Amino acid sequence: MTDTDQRTGRRHVRLPDGSSVAALGQGTWNMGDAPARRTQEIDALRLGIELGLGLIDTAEMYGDGASERLVGEAIADVRDQVFLVSKVLPSNATRTGVPAACKRSLERLGVDRLDLYLLHWRGGTPLAETIAALEALRTEGLVRNWGVSNFDVDDMCEFVGLARPGSCAVNQVLYNLEYRGIEHDLMEYSVTHGVPLMAYSPVGQGGDLLQSPALRAVADRHGASPAQVAIAWTLRAPNVISIPKAATVAHVRENAAAASLVLTAQDLAELDRSFPPPKKKIRLAML
Ligand code: NAP
Repeated sequence: MTDTDQRTGRRHVRLPDGSSVAALGQGTWNMGDAPARRTQEIDALRLGIELGLGLIDTAEMYGDGASERLVGEAIADVRDQVFLVSKVLPSNATRTGVPAACKRSLERLGVDRLDLYLLHWRGGTPLAETIAALEALRTEGLVRNWGVSNFDVDDMCEFVGLARPGSCAVNQVLYNLEYRGIEHDLMEYSVTHGVPLMAYSPVGQGGDLLQSPALRAVADRHGASPAQVAIAWTLRAPNVISIPKAATVAHVRENAAAASLVLTAQDLAELDRSFPPPKKKIRLAML
């Protein structure tokens, strides 16, 4: 389910419907909130698209629609180069709430279809009801694909029993060097059941992770930055799409180059020593 584009050398991940998407994209949480940063954020997203980071992840929750509006403005004349992802809040995940939320998102984004629509996290609505609503959107042509976010293995097992085989395109989860719990079980589940994972917060939200001496040592060896190594590390796993958020062109440029950074066995072993893989089940963490 992972291919490499022969022309660009970039990794692609194949979705259950057979379509393929570049493994490195762009997040947008907290983008669109501050008018003073708007131009800079739009420039960053547009540069990302130019550099091949055409998958853009947003959500109705982000800035209460402000992120979707920003993305809409950024992609208006390049919609065909973008794989557009948005998410529905669990509080809207009902039979009538899902189509209403989706239509509001489409309007803010200025598009007539989403490439992927995710349930942001599991709430109180029965899964079967949400699945039926998402399937109806797909049939209607308002979304090409739909999926879930923050679903652990038990949620996925319950889900698979309710959904049409192959219908869940992606599970978007927290995954970075500091949060490796999914390696115990969810990652294998995702490969076995053909549901790609989308790693959110791959650079640890720009926090302590990027100060790690181990990460710095590996980065120095490659003439790279810690953020590039953190992103390349998420991309080493099969079946994983990574969506760092960057609001400056400098960060976007840096992150885009991470797509061609290949970590060696020595790099991975060193990182394992500082960020050990899980030895037992760890409940899926979420932000
Ligand atoms: P992230 O991508 O790990 O980190 C973003 C932070 O890192 C920003 O402060 C950014 O700074 C900084 N950064 C980016 N590139 C950098 C670089 N090369 N060097 C140094 N700092 C860098 O965290 P995230 O935003 O939480 O996660 C990514 C995306 O995943 C989100 O934006 C959102 O789309 C999605 N997400 C989904 C969920 C969910 O529940 N489904 C939860 C969280 C996130 P600047 O902005 O200043 O460039």
